[in-house]
Amino acid sequence: MHFTDTVYRNPYWPTFPLLQITQGCTHNRCKFCTMYRNVDFRMQPMEWIEEDLQELAAIVPDAKTIQLLSANPLCMTYDKLAPIFEMINRYLPKMEYIYAATRVTDIRNKTVDQLKKLKNLGLKEISLGVESGDDWTLDRVNKGYHTEDIIEQCGKLSEAGVDFWMTFLNGVAGKEHSLDHAVHSAEIFSRCKPMLVGTGSLVLFPGTPLLEEAEQGKFDTLSEKEMLIELKTFTEHLTCDCSFITHHTVSGKNLSGPNFLQRKDKIIAALEHEIQSGDMEKLAAIRRNKRSL
Ligand code: SF4
Repeated sequence: MHFTDTVYRNPYWPTFPLLQITQGCTHNRCKFCTMYRNVDFRMQPMEWIEEDLQELAAIVPDAKTIQLLSANPLCMTYDKLAPIFEMINRYLPKMEYIYAATRVTDIRNKTVDQLKKLKNLGLKEISLGVESGDDWTLDRVNKGYHTEDIIEQCGKLSEAGVDFWMTFLNGVAGKEHSLDHAVHSAEIFSRCKPMLVGTGSLVLFPGTPLLEEAEQGKFDTLSEKEMLIELKTFTEHLTCDCSFITHHTVSGKNLSGPNFLQRKDKIIAALEHEIQSGDMEKLAAIRRNKRSL
């Protein structure tokens, strides 16, 4: 298989088989991320993709799922993506479910009809690393889009029937804008009606511009307790029925699962309990030990 440099795969989807169709990230400027800093973006050569599919066809000819890599494999136009999807179906004829994590902006260059065609070729589920539904925060961390883009592109995915996840990055707005980040994100996410909302929490990794700003006193990081308060506020304002995944922050409790609205009160109560009596030093130690997003 032609895996190159850093590749990210979503651990909640089947992690085999994987197919890398791009290298690096087209944006590569989010202030909290260094994952692809030293990787130039390029499409994986078509002959590599075909060789990888030949290899997979020999190992798992009946594969029904596949996860596309790397950071934002759907950035390509429909005309470039469709032949890759057709090739996947040719080599793995039982394919039913193609997954990909990608950027909100990657949907812009596709019409609803093109998204429907990709869905018919297997594209069933996309994860969007949205991070925030608050324009100030999106600008602050250089995400490269605004809430109107999120609403428009998620609307196209819904119309095409392609399921999507939205992720919320706890702590990324800093102290002063924490409330706006939580409330506005919940409002925008609720409006977009994703199949799943995922939450992660900010870790300032070495080499990130946001860590540099924090060291210069230009970015106020949230304490562990403030992280939990922000997550609780986000959860309180989230009104869409979806699956809900949270990790990083709440130790010892599994708050993830389907039917968010049915479980919402319990999730909020668990977060409140953690705010009141959680071991903040232990949570801080878990965060300090994280090595990647
Ligand atoms: S967070 Fe995602 S979009 Fe932003 S630079 Fe990192 S890989 Fe690219």
